[in-house]
Amino acid sequence: MFTKVKTQNEINLMRKSGKMLAQVLDILEKELKPGMSTKDLSNIAAKELKKLGGQPTFLGYQGFPDVLCVSLNDEIVHGIPSKKRIIQEGDLVGMDFGVTYQGMITDAARTVIAGKPKQNQHIQLVERTKESLMAGINVIHDGIRTGDIGNAIQDVLDKYKYGIVQDLVGHGVGHSLHEDPNIPNYGRKGTGPWLSKGMTIAIEPMVTLGDYNVRLAEDKWTILTQDGSWSAHFEHTILITEDGYEILTQ
Ligand code: MG
Repeated sequence: MFTKVKTQNEINLMRKSGKMLAQVLDILEKELKPGMSTKDLSNIAAKELKKLGGQPTFLGYQGFPDVLCVSLNDEIVHGIPSKKRIIQEGDLVGMDFGVTYQGMITDAARTVIAGKPKQNQHIQLVERTKESLMAGINVIHDGIRTGDIGNAIQDVLDKYKYGIVQDLVGHGVGHSLHEDPNIPNYGRKGTGPWLSKGMTIAIEPMVTLGDYNVRLAEDKWTILTQDGSWSAHFEHTILITEDGYEILTQ
């Protein structure tokens, strides 16, 4: 289903949903410490979202068993939280969360370094992945095409010679977690479907220090880099407006 132009009421619900999501990610970022398990993070997310009055979108989505995706280091996305998975000093911790509020969904992710970074290139990877997300967001306006967004993201990442994951992409969001169209993190200007004001989309560059090839873990969920290189992921849900955009998940 192609993402719909949302009504004013739906937009207001998504603003609330996105605000809750940002609050939970802020708390996770603050609480994150080496020595915690990835399940500790999902427990915090579940508890805090309940307090705020939202529902966790990911739990049960296509069978996903938890409220939060936590992906470490060479894991790019869709990591399943586990009590046995202990976060180490310097790990790159990707946290991806979805919130449903009165039927309306927002989706966002951040990558944070646990404790002291191991390498300068990890700090740069995190900062530059965020930079590419903001570059993609900055070009958004009524009438933009998906290729314009992908091109803006790719421009930043090519400059740093990073791997841009191609098998996973941004997407429409709102009534469902994943709505059409796909929004790749690469592309040519002036190509792809047109997007108009009132539509809501998730932009989410997934970036590696190596190449773009991925593999699926034995758990059938976690997506890892094939070459073992470390990766970062940032995501916001965006409302397209007449002359620009509004970030709903901050
Ligand atoms: Mg997403």
